[in-house]
Amino acid sequence: MSRFAMVIDTRRCVGCQDCVVACKTENSVPQGYCRDWIVEEVHGAFPTPHLEIRSERCNHCAEPPCVSCCPTGASHVHDFGGVVLVHHDLCIGCKACLAACPYDARFIHPDGYADKCTFCIHRVAKGLDPACVSVCPTHCMHFGDLDDPTSEVSRLLASRTHHTLLPEAGTQPRVFYLT
Ligand code: SF4
Ligand code: SF4
Ligand code: SF4
Repeated sequence: MSRFAMVIDTRRCVGCQDCVVACKTENSVPQGYCRDWIVEEVHGAFPTPHLEIRSERCNHCAEPPCVSCCPTGASHVHDFGGVVLVHHDLCIGCKACLAACPYDARFIHPDGYADKCTFCIHRVAKGLDPACVSVCPTHCMHFGDLDDPTSEVSRLLASRTHHTLLPEAGTQPRVFYLT
């Protein structure tokens, strides 16, 4: 088994939005919608404030409320790496998953189904990195298998301090931010 994860170094991210553009291009994300986005947050206080810049997307949670709430089984956890996906043809566009996601990671595609980041599973299946990871000019994003202790993501998490978003939500995110 594999458990895919993304590890993002907030110290290297410059907020250039190349990941956002790459995702829109790779995945034909319709105008007005995004599967990933940039957040800037000030941490600490004067005289040592710190600006954290993050590229955010679906966290491919290990305990995903968007899956458990889905009335049709459209939202599901894929066997390949535990990626959270949506069967477009089973989705009735009820928006229960949009309400259940604490990260506001989903939107209703103009064609009527719930859409979000797929961890670019179509690329990963070919041995490629997700599009956003592959274009980052500062190489702040890393993708790999948490179940492989030798993977870059495992090594980074073992050696650097990190956090996830809204851990109190109990969703067990698989996007980690190095600090
Ligand atoms: Fe579901 Fe939201 Fe978690 Fe993604 S971030 S798996 S959409 S709950
Ligand atoms: Fe499931 Fe689609 Fe409803 Fe989301 S919008 S809960 S994927 S049927
Ligand atoms: Fe978009 Fe793919 Fe990156 Fe997800 S992994 S944000 S779908 S480019």
